[in-house]
Amino acid sequence: MGSVTLEPNKQTNGSASDASGGAASPIRSYAPATGALLGEVPVFSAEEVAATVTRARKAQAAWAVLPVEERAERLLRFRDAIVERADEIVEIVSKECGKPRHEALMHEVTIIADLATYYCRNAPRILAPQEISLHLLVHRKSVVRYVPRGVVGIISPWNFPFSIPMGDVFAALVTGSAAVVKPSEVTPLTMRKAKEIYDSTGLPEDLFGVVTGYGATGAALIDAGIQKVVFTGAVETGKRVAAACGARLIPCVMELGGKAPLIACADADLERTARAIVFGGFANAGQVCISVERVYAHKDIHDSLVRRVKELTGELRVGDPSRDFFDVGAIIFPKQIDVAEKHIADALEKGAELVAGGRRMPGPGQFFEPTVLARCSDAMTVMNEEIFGPIVPIQKVDSEEEAIALSNRSRLGLNAYVFTKDRKRGRKLAEQVEAGSVVVNDVLVNYAVAEAPFGGIKDSGFGRVHGDDALRDMAEKRHVNYDRMASPARDPLWYPYSAKSFHWLQRGLRLLFAGSGLVQRIGELF
Ligand code: NDP
Repeated sequence: MGSVTLEPNKQTNGSASDASGGAASPIRSYAPATGALLGEVPVFSAEEVAATVTRARKAQAAWAVLPVEERAERLLRFRDAIVERADEIVEIVSKECGKPRHEALMHEVTIIADLATYYCRNAPRILAPQEISLHLLVHRKSVVRYVPRGVVGIISPWNFPFSIPMGDVFAALVTGSAAVVKPSEVTPLTMRKAKEIYDSTGLPEDLFGVVTGYGATGAALIDAGIQKVVFTGAVETGKRVAAACGARLIPCVMELGGKAPLIACADADLERTARAIVFGGFANAGQVCISVERVYAHKDIHDSLVRRVKELTGELRVGDPSRDFFDVGAIIFPKQIDVAEKHIADALEKGAELVAGGRRMPGPGQFFEPTVLARCSDAMTVMNEEIFGPIVPIQKVDSEEEAIALSNRSRLGLNAYVFTKDRKRGRKLAEQVEAGSVVVNDVLVNYAVAEAPFGGIKDSGFGRVHGDDALRDMAEKRHVNYDRMASPARDPLWYPYSAKSFHWLQRGLRLLFAGSGLVQRIGELF
């Protein structure tokens, strides 16, 4: 077992700086696969963050008055530039995260090219004013318009430094807001590249800003007079960010941690399920909020599933993705190696069996063997707390019902997976699992579904990204209610109140609502 050199910026969390205006040393970004220095970025002070937001607000004022069709058309230029310069993005993401180029291309660039296309093509429909016919006040009508908010602050983590913030950037810009991103201190160069590509498109320069720094820079962004926050990160940080937003009454979306269960039913396709566990558990070296974080395998399939998962895990090639087409890359944030080791030690102490892997790998670079644990139980931390690393723990269960009960015990509820050949039953089981998204017979794929909402329940957060509702939520809803016909000068519902008018109101209540009253019949007419 070799030792791993931890570079200073990837093991500390902002010791050298704050965002209060004092000069801070720049953040250095190192490649986790090699330890090589990739570049450095400044730490924005609170004043610099506020100035970025002020410039964004000015640019937004002119952007917001453009018709949504024109904003969408112009933003497609940015999408095109991303596609044309995909190699540059893949290069920096792959180096800064140590992730395989396949994953940088598929999970970061392609997802955003698709989401941007969906939002730009559909924003005119999604954001079109909604006329509402009223069932009670039939003489009036309502219209809901989707109005740009202003400046949206996007605070993002290190595991998908391109796709996580860029989806929110496109959503903010197409709805007519500006976007300012605070990327993770661990992977700041990727957003700098995104900004460089954006600036080459001729779109208003200040409409999309990037403020680099540590947590204090994120806090300064929330304090800079922005109108919405989209935060993606850990549960504990999310609580602090939500409290800061609450104190300022800023609406926020919280995309927090996950502990996705995979339920392998007795009738699951063994080969597909085993391959799904290996891909879903080890893609991005397990540093995915929707990774397969725990497997509940029915006793009828358990032993053969563990055997096949072991074989497939043994075939994985782990290494520096800049040297070759490895399957599993580096651990981006070295603290995750300590987390993995603690989970494994706890599990082994409580009776788990180490089926594959289990150790950090010799340097240079930060690597951990893809690890499979069997004979796991719900007494182990590995079945209860987020791993966010390349470990798949497997627990044998007597029934699918037991698997669902165990799945739902978690305080996290982001994603879940069900594997069965009976697709109808799969959908029924999926409805019983407490998670923001449940996928039947596939893994990770729901993040790539541009049409559907993505986000968690319980401690995994609130609010959604992706899908039509998330785009509408990116805007402010403004309701105008208006008269469809000339109204009498003297409204019978206004002053003066009298015994007679009260009597009519009482009669009206019964007439309208008792049994299948008038309201229901009017409703059936419209
Ligand atoms: P963190 O919560 O540590 O950091 C997230 C971001 O918040 C970083 O940019 C961080 O800056 C910033 N930040 C830290 N403190 C503050 C503060 N007080 N005010 C404002 N911003 C602050 O998460 P990680 O980067 O470690 O990401 C891993 C976590 O993200 C995992 O729990 C994972 O499950 C979750 N995640 C959730 C996803 C989802 O969609 N639900 C998707 C991906 C990841 P800095 O890095 O400089 O400290």
